[in-house]
Amino acid sequence: MKQSYPPPEGVGGGQTHDSHTLSHSDLLLLLRATGEEKTLLFERSAAVKEKHVGNRVYFRGLIEFSNICQKNCLYCGIRKENETVRRYNLTDDEILNAARFAADNKYASLVLQSGEVETGNFTRRVANLLTRIHRETGNQLRITLSCGEQDKETYKMWHDCGAHRYLLRIESSNPDLYVKLHPSDGMHLYRRRRECLDALQETGYQVGTGVMIGLPFQTLEDLTNDLLFMQQFNIDMVGMGPYLEHSDTPLYAYRDQLLPLEERFQLTLKMIACLRILMPDINIAATTALQSIDKLGREKAIKIGANVIMPNITPGKYRDDYLLYQNKPCTDENAEDCKTCLEARIALAENEIAYGEWGDSKHFGERDKGRGTKD
Ligand code: SAM
Ligand code: SF4
Repeated sequence: MKQSYPPPEGVGGGQTHDSHTLSHSDLLLLLRATGEEKTLLFERSAAVKEKHVGNRVYFRGLIEFSNICQKNCLYCGIRKENETVRRYNLTDDEILNAARFAADNKYASLVLQSGEVETGNFTRRVANLLTRIHRETGNQLRITLSCGEQDKETYKMWHDCGAHRYLLRIESSNPDLYVKLHPSDGMHLYRRRRECLDALQETGYQVGTGVMIGLPFQTLEDLTNDLLFMQQFNIDMVGMGPYLEHSDTPLYAYRDQLLPLEERFQLTLKMIACLRILMPDINIAATTALQSIDKLGREKAIKIGANVIMPNITPGKYRDDYLLYQNKPCTDENAEDCKTCLEARIALAENEIAYGEWGDSKHFGERDKGRGTKD
């Protein structure tokens, strides 16, 4: 559908004012934009990015340290009931070596990601790893955790051990859609997800969330509400990517209902652009899933608003076993290949890698001033 002019407030490359207000109907129009209107949206979001966070990209070395998971999200290739997955758990030494690689190469930040396990052993192991990584890399690294839903005491313990950021996607802010994406077994509750996000914010983390884009049953209305949810929740960071199907998951049965890949890709870029305009100073990741659809996917996201990239530094031999979706890129590379490839790609996107800088969310800095607990 063609969008009517003038474009919504806050959009349009030539505008001089600096409004970041986009209403529900504005956002809906923007998510439908094509042609010239889409170009205008991207020009505006690129300008907002340059003004508020600069044309700089922060690295977060991603360690997918275990694919063992107690959950059964209907979309995810490493869900517990997928028996075709070869399960792995990196040793502490493998994790520490990867962390040293990140420190030596001035990545400045790490993401420790895994399947979801809620046990005392897991809690203690992560706490111990955090302590050792900080000790053995001379406190050079900021650490983000992405280990799913946990109780508040666990989040607090990990924060005390030096995790400053946490990524927990809401997946969809529509509770009815959330139910369709998860089993009804009492272990996958929308309410719990929201409580965990609240607990993370209260604990003092820089909180990141996100959604998958192009899911079966998902509407543009849902995505519009997702953007407004992120603004209302006052997130500090986001990781949004296209939903990509995996044949060993229950959601695969609905593949005929999916948008073509290129449309999912374009919709993801539009979501990133809208969010950059709505929340100019948050950190926005250019996710790997974008690159599975388009080889230059992450660079395109960087150009129009994203400012974080997560080079995979998981030891190469495990990468084939962390397949959330099929055709995941770079599973045959090692950490060094990833770095070289990204340097060239980011230069192509006319951005600069901020080596050696933590790149904390500026939004968190502002939010935290109010709390009076800046670390
Ligand atoms: N287990 C933790 C959790 O769920 O938060 C962290 C790891 S989980 C694999 C990270 C993210 O992968 C999820 O939040 C989900 O959005 C994404 N994901 C899972 N399956 C996907 C798929 N088929 N396509 C795209 N993203 C997917
Ligand atoms: Fe487990 Fe996370 Fe995958 Fe859900 S999305 S099945 S919690 S790894």
